[in-house]
Amino acid sequence: MGTLHLVAVPIGNLEDITLRALRLLKTAERIACEDTRRTGKLLELLGIERPRLVALHEHNEEERLPGLIAALEAGESLVLVSDAGTPAISDPGFRLVRAAVAAGVPVVPVPGPCAAIAALCASGLPTDAFRFVGFLPPKSGQRKSRLLELAAATETLIFYASPHRIEEVLADAAATLGGDRQAVIAREITKHFEEFRRGTLAELVADPGVTRGEIVLLIGGATEAPADEDALRPIVESLLREGYSPSLAAKEAARRTGARRGEAYRLAVELAQEEP
Ligand code: SAM
Repeated sequence: MGTLHLVAVPIGNLEDITLRALRLLKTAERIACEDTRRTGKLLELLGIERPRLVALHEHNEEERLPGLIAALEAGESLVLVSDAGTPAISDPGFRLVRAAVAAGVPVVPVPGPCAAIAALCASGLPTDAFRFVGFLPPKSGQRKSRLLELAAATETLIFYASPHRIEEVLADAAATLGGDRQAVIAREITKHFEEFRRGTLAELVADPGVTRGEIVLLIGGATEAPADEDALRPIVESLLREGYSPSLAAKEAARRTGARRGEAYRLAVELAQEEP
């Protein structure tokens, strides 16, 4: 039986490669990677020659599985890497790991860089409990629904975000979770233009700073007391009747009752949909 090694690689700074990762990349019989050209270039920079690379990405992971598992069962060693960071974290790998586990193939993690963890540990937000969410949906409606599901979570929330959408994501987060939550934009971690921009969501919406490069967004968890829906409902109903939009009604009701903004918003949307 061969072994499947999940090897983390740098997220920007080449010096972050570990000694163990280097040894395994040098000795692997095969390296599965998202993009053979990108990984080929990384290995070249690390001084690793002639690696046997096989492409394993979102679109071919399922069809590649039988061949890779058969090779592992036949005793071949396989290393899985992502373009950057830790494999299987918002990257391909989960299906391969699941199939390897099912086949009884040893799966060994080789830890190293991961953007979410690097961002969290330097964010200044609580690290004792956190929820990794990954990428939010690209469409605003779906994104707001997802954020609402997270509104009551008390853990620090960690998102991966495209630089093209960070401003929309911040605006939707402020509308659903409340502008007063603490948040951090962690940008270009380990690279030349590394930056941690901290503030409330409202402050970051007003001034997100440079929005180029790779971004992790962190948002502090819910802290206010959960609302008693019986107290919230009549206030939201009356505000909606007065012509407030669901978002403004939620904001006002949350202010009056001390309820979580997300909770009030969820109720306001629900009540507004019930209206004839
Ligand atoms: N598997 C990777 C990991 O362990 O971090 C994540 C892969 S995911 C496809 C890529 C996303 O990770 C980027 O869009 C960005 O949100 C985040 N990311 C990766 N490198 C980063 C960096 N150097 N600085 C900030 N965010 C980064």
